Amino acid sequence: MNLFSLLESTARRWPEANAVFSGTRCVQSWAQLHDRALRLAGALGAEPLRIAIFSENCPEYLELVFGAWAAGSAVVPLNYKLHPREVAEIAQDAEPSWLFASPALAPGLREALPHSSDRVITIGEAGYEAFFIGAPAEPRATEPEALAWLFYTSGTTGRSKGAMLTQRNLIAMTVSHLADVEAIDETCSQIHAAPMSHGSGIYIPAYVARGARQVIPDPPGFEPDTFLDLCDAHPGCGAFLAPTMVQRLRLAAEAAGGRRPSGLRTIIYGGGPMYVEELNKALAAFGQVFVQIYGQGESPMTITWLRRADHESREASLLGSVGIARTGTQVRVVDGNGRDLPAGETGEIICRSDVVMAGYWRNPKGTADALRDGWLYTGDMGSLDEQGYLTLRDRSKDVVISGGSNIYPREVEEALLTHPAVSEVCVVGMPDAEWGEVVVAFVVKAVGASVAEQELDAHCLERIARFKRPKRYVWEDALPKNSYGKVLKRVLRETLIASI
Ligand code: AMP
Repeated sequence: MNLFSLLESTARRWPEANAVFSGTRCVQSWAQLHDRALRLAGALGAEPLRIAIFSENCPEYLELVFGAWAAGSAVVPLNYKLHPREVAEIAQDAEPSWLFASPALAPGLREALPHSSDRVITIGEAGYEAFFIGAPAEPRATEPEALAWLFYTSGTTGRSKGAMLTQRNLIAMTVSHLADVEAIDETCSQIHAAPMSHGSGIYIPAYVARGARQVIPDPPGFEPDTFLDLCDAHPGCGAFLAPTMVQRLRLAAEAAGGRRPSGLRTIIYGGGPMYVEELNKALAAFGQVFVQIYGQGESPMTITWLRRADHESREASLLGSVGIARTGTQVRVVDGNGRDLPAGETGEIICRSDVVMAGYWRNPKGTADALRDGWLYTGDMGSLDEQGYLTLRDRSKDVVISGGSNIYPREVEEALLTHPAVSEVCVVGMPDAEWGEVVVAFVVKAVGASVAEQELDAHCLERIARFKRPKRYVWEDALPKNSYGKVLKRVLRETLIASI
């Protein structure tokens, strides 16, 4: 079992077909990608290694990933927005043999890693090309339990940990994606608008297995108008987008007079809350192209899914949920003692499947906390309904406990977002001598809108229990987010604590 075999069968079937694109320009056929990956495997040698990639999205990501797998090695994808010092910390933990970095990021990384700067290879330069001049290797067979992807969690609530994803995990994830989320074929394209070090990259095997084009925006990154252009230029486009990207895309499409690109087939969203208000607007703008996934680095992209058909119903209770368990995944909601809770009651979400990680890298304590009796304790709170639809509240660490009552920020955020003057919102708890914690809302107003605190307070009183409404509002121009589009609640909490 080796993920490289997915590229191998596609390259055998459609060797000359256009495979990898930089924007609208084809840079590699399947045969060329296959050949480059095997040459890299030859240069990496027979010992299984760990290969880090620290780069903005780029076409070379594909040859690096498949080259590593052909060599029986693992990829350590690094978020390109991290500070080189943060990357150096991860590098000290993961100990990769090579760090492939983009020209923009390589100098900073060398500086942050003075003792191993010779292991930093600048993508595209002569030193990089030297990895591709030797003879192609024979792809190596790997054990299903071999490490394939060492995925550092985004650390929105603390220090990041390396989730060890095996060949088996990623194959199971790929099969589940093809079974549940979308049927892909060679007339489709994957647009890498979100970082390839995260959701977009982890979907590569599913798209490559079916011979779908790999499209890397040029310039890289997510620029809504460029994304819409690419969906006009390529056939059957699918992309993973964080909810905040969906909102930006919708605003750009509306600003362009209701643009709906002809080639847009599927937007898979997840990784953070998609509010019902926004989802309805996005459905009105783009039609039935949406599928939601709920997952986490420890069970990548695969815990539950909200099907396309569920979006068609436009039922608020369904749209506010994260859908049903993925094929091959068991999902439960349990109390503090690991006992199942009845439908409708909120507890911790746990899951079990072949996609669940083998553990955290060099972290037995973290592994023992997260994996118990074969179940992954997600740290997310939620409830199941009678039909098995899961509604996610918040991460257990984000729950606000005020005067002894649990307040789930998501509920308060959903209420505030129904006010037309509110564009974005994030609710957190602030330490308080009297209540333990009080609810604070960070609000970004819609362009040109104005609204007073009292009005939002009245708006909340009509929608949620009195004790849940924010005691304080903080107006912001933008919310702090990581490069995966997740709001950094930790940063907002720190701002509040500093202001006390
Ligand atoms: P990461 O490991 O960085 O991908 O973060 C995973 C976390 O993001 C999960 O544990 C959830 O808290 C959150 N998350 C993922 N998918 C969704 C979703 N569809 N809706 C709301 N939150 C989500």
